[in-house]
Amino acid sequence: MSLATDYEALANAAAVELEEAPAQEILRWAAEHFGKRFCVTSSMEDAVVAHLASSVFPGVDVVFLDTGYHFAETIGTRDAVAAVLPVNVITLKPLQTVAEQDARYGANLHDRDPDLCCSLRKVEPLNRGLGGYDAWATGLRRDESPSRANTPVVAWDAKRRKVKLAPIARWTQADVDAYVAANGVLLNPLLWEGYTSIGCSPLSCTAKPGEGEQGRAGRWAGSGKTECGIHL
Ligand code: SF4
Repeated sequence: MSLATDYEALANAAAVELEEAPAQEILRWAAEHFGKRFCVTSSMEDAVVAHLASSVFPGVDVVFLDTGYHFAETIGTRDAVAAVLPVNVITLKPLQTVAEQDARYGANLHDRDPDLCCSLRKVEPLNRGLGGYDAWATGLRRDESPSRANTPVVAWDAKRRKVKLAPIARWTQADVDAYVAANGVLLNPLLWEGYTSIGCSPLSCTAKPGEGEQGRAGRWAGSGKTECGIHL
């Protein structure tokens, strides 16, 4: 049996065993099984999962995708996380700068073909960056959007052949708020300006949600696109 087959079986068993487990227990399971071949990814909307992971695995790698299109506040949140948490922040960059991408595909590719832009600036760098890991954790939550409603706490990421964790999949926004308040967790300051989900800065990619909207409603609003491709 190959290592990947073992990991697939391990992930499938853990999905059942850890479904009701607290987030820290899920992260501890990952640290025990994968050690330094486990990382956390963060969009730097908040530092909740990085904080949780560092509490059970100090020095854990926290991977951030620097698309070249981030808000200054997001880069600032990344730098603050690196400064105050016992984590090792790793910044991944696309193969091309924004200027190089503009020269090849024309300016503002995000407005014309956001799937291609996300593929070049998020999916490819993440796939490359995860090469050195066997397991990765995300901050996906079931209450964020219909497309995330069935997110397992542990899964086999068949596309990347890695174990994928969502330790706060069962959390609600109220759970996040309570954890942030109790632990003084860093938040992206844009959350105080009315944004409820923070991605890249072009208006076509991240906008404040409209009246009565919440969660990820402001992401690629009106385009039909709901995910960047990392979690598909
Ligand atoms: S979110 Fe927008 S700017 Fe960022 S990679 Fe995707 S399409 Fe490009």
